[in-house]
Amino acid sequence: MVQKISFEEARERLMKRNLKATPQRVVIYEALVNMNNHPTAEMIYEHIHSNNPSISLATVYKTLDTFVDSKLADKVLSDHGVTRYDGYTDTHNHLYCTNTEELIDYEDEELVKMLEQYFESKRISNFKIHDIRLQVLGEKIDVRQQVELSK
Ligand SMILES: [Zn+2]
Repeated sequence: MVQKISFEEARERLMKRNLKATPQRVVIYEALVNMNNHPTAEMIYEHIHSNNPSISLATVYKTLDTFVDSKLADKVLSDHGVTRYDGYTDTHNHLYCTNTEELIDYEDEELVKMLEQYFESKRISNFKIHDIRLQVLGEKIDVRQQVELSK
């Protein structure tokens, strides 16, 4: 989901989760949400560095962990095992393009319900399910290619 939030809104969301809204945290959270590309910690660091040279990469990592603990962000693993972060925490699935390494939100309530019901009916023994996330691997096809393929 494409979201754009202001610094003020980022601050409010932190406070709602009972996190101290330090300027560093707000800057990192605002970047995570507004980058909209499931960034890695390094990508966030690069993004904010010129305006916030005092924020270290270690701080970015630590802060992202705090967000995950407070349910303000989710960790998403890419196909290569690289940890990426998602500022959009409603249940949703992802399409992963193996060419561009893009993670694209795939929102489909019907699919979410179907997966939940499926696993409920399976009653896997000795395992309690918290969340089901699907990552569909493939490659993005641009409109031009699509026309070619349909010929
Ligand atoms: Zn996502």
